[in-house]
Amino acid sequence: MKVLIVGGGIVGLATAWALVRQGHNPVLFEQGPLPHEGGASYDQHRLIRLPYADQRGYCAMVIDALAAWSRLWDDLGETPYAEIGSLAVSTEEDDWTDRSRITLDALSLDYDTLDAADIHARYPFLALPAGAWGLFNRRGGLLFAARIVDSLVRYLRHRGVELRDETRIVGVDPAAGCLSLADGSRESAEAIVVAAGAWTAKLFPELARRAVPHRQVVTYLEPPEAYAEAWAAAPAMVHLSNAADIYAAPPVAGSELKFGAAAHRRPADPDTLDPLGDGEAAGVAAAFRGVLRDLDDYRILRGRLCPYGIAPDSRFVTERTGGVTVIGGCSGHMFKFGAVMGEELARTATGERPYEDFRTWAEGRGGRLEED
Ligand SMILES: Cc1cc2nc3c(=O)[nH]c(=O)nc-3n(C[C@H](O)[C@H](O)[C@H](O)COP(=O)(O)OP(=O)(O)OC[C@H]3O[C@@H](n4cnc5c(N)ncnc54)[C@H](O)[C@@H]3O)c2cc1C
Repeated sequence: MKVLIVGGGIVGLATAWALVRQGHNPVLFEQGPLPHEGGASYDQHRLIRLPYADQRGYCAMVIDALAAWSRLWDDLGETPYAEIGSLAVSTEEDDWTDRSRITLDALSLDYDTLDAADIHARYPFLALPAGAWGLFNRRGGLLFAARIVDSLVRYLRHRGVELRDETRIVGVDPAAGCLSLADGSRESAEAIVVAAGAWTAKLFPELARRAVPHRQVVTYLEPPEAYAEAWAAAPAMVHLSNAADIYAAPPVAGSELKFGAAAHRRPADPDTLDPLGDGEAAGVAAAFRGVLRDLDDYRILRGRLCPYGIAPDSRFVTERTGGVTVIGGCSGHMFKFGAVMGEELARTATGERPYEDFRTWAEGRGGRLEED
């Protein structure tokens, strides 16, 4: 079946990959170049982690996500992924990390708990309050996002998939099953998948409050010499404080140390993002004060801007009208599901999986796709 895809980020590219695997004929439209560095999917790394507080559906999906990435690595012939595990810190009963532990127990998924002394011995750069404990998962770690996107584009080109870059879609007509291109031409197919990231509401204004376009800043740093070795051996730091939603990607496999802080985002039009302002990169680093020792000794290398669509309840937003399936509101947690989301979107678009079933799963209200 011919399937049109709008968007060349991880979701659109992985959907094209899965369609090819499933014997279909995808045609992908990307408004920018391919790879598109201006989308949410293009950065050195994205975290993949099992702890998900009490969002049991998304925690279960991570196991299927890991299996889907393995299938993708087999096809790409490379593994742009470092399974370094993840660490979340708890300082209070029933906090994010403690609830993640309960969810992992409910799903019979393994983890280790670290006491404050263990944490200090392994990760001396952390400054944690007495009584803090750590939830360590061996599975998960860092997906090298830009390398994955580059490799997928190469793979799809090699497989002869029609990738139409610099081609903006300006309208979607579900009744006619057709896309309007900026040059006035139209393309039609039995099925269409729209994975337009922060631009979703430009095509579907009715989704503007459910998939709100935002501008997010992250900061790359060089750790002080005294902690360089410990950082290079560290897991992905997924939840370090209850006071601020902060995370860190350690510098492994040639990547750089990166800090992120959810507070450093604001609603924005993805076509006209304000450039990085003075002090924005330092502002992200400042969110780590009290959590890291010797924070002033970290050298800020640069900040980076990313546009993405945020769903207020963090559940991915999906709609189906006629043969058009839309996925948006991918928020700060879709990359890890990229490969499995592509597979399931492909199955749904081609009618193999009922849409309502897909929607329940994508909203994190389902269970595992594949039971061991
Ligand atoms: C700073 C930051 C950190 C994050 N950290 C993590 C993390 O650690 N782990 C995790 O799992 N997730 C993380 N995420 C989330 C994740 O990166 C995104 O949810 C994911 O990359 C979204 O992929 P996408 O394909 O939907 O969107 P995008 O990558 O933005 O791709 C959408 C593409 O569609 C194109 N497009 C849009 N409209 C049109 C049109 N009309 N015509 C043609 N092309 C169009 C755009 O140009 C764009 O290239 C993070 C996000 C950000 C911003």
